Amino acid sequence: MPNWNPFRRKDQVKVKNARAYLADAPKYKSHILGGGQCHVTGIVCPVCTQWGAGGPFYPTVDCSTLYELGEDITKYIYEISSRKSRKPMTPTERNELAEKLIPVLGQDRPIGYGAIFGVSLAEAKGPIGDFAWQTRGLVYVRESVFREINEAGFPLVGVPAPLKFQKDPGERLILLELLPSARRLASTFKQCEICDRILEVEETLRIDGSSFDDSIPIQCVYEWPATAVFSADLADYIRERGFTDISLSPIEVV
Ligand SMILES: [Zn+2]
Repeated sequence: MPNWNPFRRKDQVKVKNARAYLADAPKYKSHILGGGQCHVTGIVCPVCTQWGAGGPFYPTVDCSTLYELGEDITKYIYEISSRKSRKPMTPTERNELAEKLIPVLGQDRPIGYGAIFGVSLAEAKGPIGDFAWQTRGLVYVRESVFREINEAGFPLVGVPAPLKFQKDPGERLILLELLPSARRLASTFKQCEICDRILEVEETLRIDGSSFDDSIPIQCVYEWPATAVFSADLADYIRERGFTDISLSPIEVV
């Protein structure tokens, strides 16, 4: 059995002019409806007022571990199923919380614009292919395919998802954890100077090559966590193997 959370990472290799691929918006017969277990609360900024944004999503982080961290931290984390949101944080409180969570989550899991943790029971509709999607950034893979891709030398991280299937696929699906490693090219967006909220953004995603590590098979983008960016090597492998229910388009790494 593979370790579900090996969190392996090679030494950072920054690459300019690399090839990378973005998962297209899913248009398949299957569809997954689910979510995380807990969430970092929203932000209240003197300029932007109150806002909250989704992601990054860390399904391997168990919310019960976070609930044990003491009031200092838990006052900013709420259980999604309780539907009770906590008070929003100021940008300063957000920065302090981010610092406090580093020893728990690791340097590679920033809370960004409101991280989501854990994995809740989800509903899987329609016939399941090799890949299945909730959004273009929430990627599920058949367990056998997950294993095969890992064995082919692409270290994916994920957790078996508790799913209620409309049509049983005969094996478990693994929900992948994509870390927000790549950054948008700075000239393609504007953010609030106080709270970092993204105010304007160029529609076409362009990645800053100095932030891009093409040894990570799939990552999301820090300023746009609802993405799945595939390394060229993994994209080539997926194409060669002819896996179903996945479509990738090239993006610019500048
Ligand atoms: Zn702001």
